[in-house]
Amino acid sequence: MSASGAARLLDGASLARVLRERVREEASRVSERGTPASLRVILVGEDPASVTYVASKTRAAQEAGCQAETIRLPASATPARLLEEVERANRDEAVDGLLVQLPLPPGHDPRRVFDALDPAKDVDGLHPENVGLLAQGRPRFVPCTAAGILALLDAYEIPIEGANAAVLGRSEIVGKPVAALLTSRNATVTLCHSRTKDLAAVCRRAEILVAAIGRPGFVTRDFVMQGAAVVDVGVTRLDSIEAAPPHLRGSARLREAIARKGRALVGDVDFDAVSEVARWITPVPGGVGPLTIAMLLQNTVKAARLRRPPARRES
Ligand code: NAP
Repeated sequence: MSASGAARLLDGASLARVLRERVREEASRVSERGTPASLRVILVGEDPASVTYVASKTRAAQEAGCQAETIRLPASATPARLLEEVERANRDEAVDGLLVQLPLPPGHDPRRVFDALDPAKDVDGLHPENVGLLAQGRPRFVPCTAAGILALLDAYEIPIEGANAAVLGRSEIVGKPVAALLTSRNATVTLCHSRTKDLAAVCRRAEILVAAIGRPGFVTRDFVMQGAAVVDVGVTRLDSIEAAPPHLRGSARLREAIARKGRALVGDVDFDAVSEVARWITPVPGGVGPLTIAMLLQNTVKAARLRRPPARRES
């Protein structure tokens, strides 16, 4: 796929393949030191998107030469039951990386789960200790999507130092860590949210614009500076063209995807219109999503390396 206007594609899928190959080599070095790196994912409930994401994560981990397993709890599982499962994984010496798939069903407080994770196994980077290390500019585990976005900007040599950046969305898993990473790389960052005034004008000042709000096509041409790099994190599944916001319904790409597969994944950015003004743009799918998985693998292998004593040198 190529961008329809002047913009060049930031091809996350290709970069993810390269990174996953690199992780495979690192994972085999870990295996040489004893057991393979291992990832445990805890999934609560049956949310179809989460079920698919978890399956992709564990398959990718196995393909990279890691052990991976999923613990499935019913949607009715109590917060105490979930915390018990987290504790069990914390104590299990065979688990290097631990991930609780988000979002959790109603009734669970994700922050209690973040607090309960062993920070040394927290491959999603959500325990306050890891959040604090990132905020101080000395990251250990960086939330995977945020790490993937920076990897993508770097792979395409998009200048970060001194750039004006706007991050749309302030979630713990994407917006805040992206803003922290860009700040630590000397960008001047505006972190925007639902109460930001003159949102389009604020975004239009950005040379790097990251959209992570979960509203299909929200970022229109009006939000984008000529020549900006636009990273679209949002993923919304549409099952019919009528479900799309009116300004996206004319999109031939969207119509074709829905006609072919009965559904389409749509980002937060109006891809066709924004491609006319941006210099760089990520596609959805095939942009940020594949990098999230690559970074999870990277964090899992890192967790294994940090938890294993270094090999003794023969004297
Ligand atoms: P989230 O927890 O859903 O929070 C949404 C954020 O967007 C909030 O900070 C909210 O502001 C802001 N927001 C919502 N409507 C807005 C509006 N009209 N104007 C300005 N700001 C608005 O965010 P998330 O978990 O980061 O998810 C965002 C999107 O990214 C979703 O589509 C999700 O599926 C996708 N995602 C993709 C990946 C991937 O790997 N590709 C990974 C994670 C997430 P307030 O804080 O003021 O409420």
